[in-house]
Amino acid sequence: MYPPTRVCIRPGCKYIEGRRKGQQRQLSHRTSTNVVYLSREFGPLPATCHSMSCSKCNDRYYPDFFVDQESHSRAYYGGIPTALHVTTHMFIEAPLCDRWTNSSACAWVSFTNNARIYNLEHQESLATFPRSWSVEPELLPTIASDAFFLFALLRNRMERRTHLVLSNNGDQSARLEPALLARNASMVGPAREKWNHICDKCCSIEEHDGELGFIRATVMDGITIGRPCCKVHDCQEPLPSQRSRFCATHSSKNDDCAVVGCTGKVTAGFQTCQDPSHRTLEDPTNRSSLFVLRRRLERLRTASLEGDGNAVTDELVDIDADGECPSKSDEGNTKPHARFGRRRTHNEQLVVATCGIILGRATMFGSEGIDGVRKHLNAVGDTYFDNCVMPVDPFHAKTKHKETDMFCAQYCNAAQFPDLLKDGKWRFNSSAAEMTNAWFGGFQAMVREMRECRYDFFLDEMILIRNRIITADLVKARAHPLEVPYEFFGLSV
Ligand SMILES: [Zn+2]
Ligand SMILES: [Zn+2]
Ligand SMILES: [Zn+2]
Ligand SMILES: [Zn+2]
Repeated sequence: MYPPTRVCIRPGCKYIEGRRKGQQRQLSHRTSTNVVYLSREFGPLPATCHSMSCSKCNDRYYPDFFVDQESHSRAYYGGIPTALHVTTHMFIEAPLCDRWTNSSACAWVSFTNNARIYNLEHQESLATFPRSWSVEPELLPTIASDAFFLFALLRNRMERRTHLVLSNNGDQSARLEPALLARNASMVGPAREKWNHICDKCCSIEEHDGELGFIRATVMDGITIGRPCCKVHDCQEPLPSQRSRFCATHSSKNDDCAVVGCTGKVTAGFQTCQDPSHRTLEDPTNRSSLFVLRRRLERLRTASLEGDGNAVTDELVDIDADGECPSKSDEGNTKPHARFGRRRTHNEQLVVATCGIILGRATMFGSEGIDGVRKHLNAVGDTYFDNCVMPVDPFHAKTKHKETDMFCAQYCNAAQFPDLLKDGKWRFNSSAAEMTNAWFGGFQAMVREMRECRYDFFLDEMILIRNRIITADLVKARAHPLEVPYEFFGLSV
């Protein structure tokens, strides 16, 4: 593996005299390192990575990037390299990263399982790999994970015709974080690819009083996918570490008794105050059987889905003195109950066009529904959605909403919008949107322990890939997918 250039690419690094006067400086000071090259075809291979530096600016050139000595950063050369320099001693072929990404998007294959499958496929190469090479050839899940994020970033930069620049300090995971955050921020709202999608399956052109208009139909639903978040209701501040229960602002609450409504402080080694009736709720020698069983079940469920064997099981558990989960409807209940473990975000809301294209995604910290959205818009006087109707899906309304819910019956009843009907039937078929929601739910096991920035990035990347696959299918089905110019929405993106 060699750098793609033999000369320094800084404009100022030219020879000022001699026969090479005016030419870029030649690189020198070659160093060579033993690495493992993970090939798609032949498995892990021993390889050598060469780097060279410029004698004037001291920038060091590697196969995928050069290290800028002034800013201590890694500037990637642009495009996607043949093999990604994922760790100091490991290169992974780009087509392999692409395959893992597609396996995740199409079949929910986790990083752990992508790594496991690769190691199984190449057992022979692993067994015959030279022991003297001083680098372990086995692919670890953490490396497969870093490869996914680095590959996605490089592809994104290539599509936007910009270069990826990362810090040269810290470990790979910390190095990637600022770039992941920047990409997440660039995907919000209308900036998401396909946000302005329309096609024959999600749009219908209508004539009203001689004027042409169109209806665009989308389905919004909450999917139970979540990641750990601050235990304070609706707090959106990131957790300092994946094991934390509270964010930095609310960290003093770590000292509060876990019993709901108790203002006592915990004593060292406990999550409850000294009140005996509170202490029994967590007494490690006297744990209620339900408490233990629930945790065991949780552990089993996580392990069987993810298969990494060391899943974190510190889930939010409500427990009362009888070891039961206190029922919400039981208003007369005065028994103390405690809330142990970490809280999770409540759900992911997806806005899906009726053809299956995902137009938007947002993390909800408390429960949200379409009537909640409508109530909120009324309360803040927002008029943006005045030309939209927001009915609750008829099946959902029939089974999940109380008949006494007057607000919902008044504003969200699908039957009062005749435009949604054609020949006595629902005009738009929401089954494609339901399939999309079911597909999205499959990522729960993979993302449940991800940190906020990787969680958002991963889900958005999966959505991007699926949207591209569905668009190709819509073209084949002659449904004429198009992207509406942003000016039409009064936006300039
Ligand atoms: Zn130079
Ligand atoms: Zn569509
Ligand atoms: Zn907080
Ligand atoms: Zn207490």
